[in-house]
Amino acid sequence: MRQYLMEKQNEMLELLERMVNIDSGSYIKEGVDEIGAILMKEYRDMGFAVQEVKQEEYGNHLIIQHPLAKNPKTIIIAHMDTVFPVGTAENRPFHIKDNRAYGPGVIDMKASQVAVLYAMKALIKFHSKAYQDVLIVLNSDEEIGSPTSKELIENKAVGKKYALVMEPARKDGSVVTSRRGKGHYTISVKGRAAHSGIEPEKGRSAIEELAYKIIRLHDLTDHEKGISVNVGLIEGGSSVNTVSDTAMAEVDIRISEREQAKPMEEKIESICASTDVKGTEIHLEGKMNRLPMEKNAQTTSLLHMIEDVGVEMGLKVKDTATGGGSDASFTAAMGVATIDGMGPVGGNAHSEAEYLEIPSLIERIELLAKTINKLSEE
Ligand SMILES: [Zn+2]
Repeated sequence: MRQYLMEKQNEMLELLERMVNIDSGSYIKEGVDEIGAILMKEYRDMGFAVQEVKQEEYGNHLIIQHPLAKNPKTIIIAHMDTVFPVGTAENRPFHIKDNRAYGPGVIDMKASQVAVLYAMKALIKFHSKAYQDVLIVLNSDEEIGSPTSKELIENKAVGKKYALVMEPARKDGSVVTSRRGKGHYTISVKGRAAHSGIEPEKGRSAIEELAYKIIRLHDLTDHEKGISVNVGLIEGGSSVNTVSDTAMAEVDIRISEREQAKPMEEKIESICASTDVKGTEIHLEGKMNRLPMEKNAQTTSLLHMIEDVGVEMGLKVKDTATGGGSDASFTAAMGVATIDGMGPVGGNAHSEAEYLEIPSLIERIELLAKTINKLSEE
């Protein structure tokens, strides 16, 4: 298999280059759909059936399965969107330096898209029927919390035994067996505007009200328990000499255990239930949208199977925990044995320094294809 994949490496890198050079941030529907069109054609040319789940606002999702598939036991999840705005690909297009490839989304996760596709090609080439034992979901909005694909993923994961999530492997090559859970809230405060020099007593400062809440929210952070609350964005006011009548904050919450979700929601609601500055109004929106992915017995036994495949290939597969959220949390919460980080090795995702370790591309495709094959035989 390795020989076959080596022969295909240039073809893979060409496809990767094509996809990296298309801006496909979550909010760029056109770009994400262009990525979808490329992948749809590739899968259809291989004989797979591709269903397009159309979306108004974000890119369309793709559901891919072989027509001969009968109730596949493995679901593979890979997202097509990136975090980068329009113009990024033009400013810093795909390029290779030494053994690394660079460009927006190169590791998170366009290389993973190449990996899934070529794993399927390799299975077909080597007459394994395992390509009929997978359902592939390519979604378009993972980077913004999967607002339109969460339910789709959950529906498609019903009855599945295994989930392989294609987020990149960590810098040291580890796959991911646990992730922190995640929540996102928006707080809007309404106050009353007044001239701060002439009649400040008539004003009700929305910014002042928000300030009280920010302090209390940050106080919920407990690093020892793996809980963090970060008000990452604030906005408010209209001029320096006006008592502000509006203020807004966006809050990112991370938790480590499922049991922390409900109390966290309750605490946030209670902090925002009343105002400190009389005469202001506060409105809270949001929720904990990804539960933590915890390493349990099922995950561990799936990990062991992948480790065994690695040993056969001469590859030591390690696992690790990470703070970031991903769609793996959805399948894990349903009780499907889930391993994340099945993509190629790279790092610095969501930044200009994002890179793919090119030699890992072939290695990880082989690992993926052989894992799918092994799971199919289980
Ligand atoms: Zn990602």
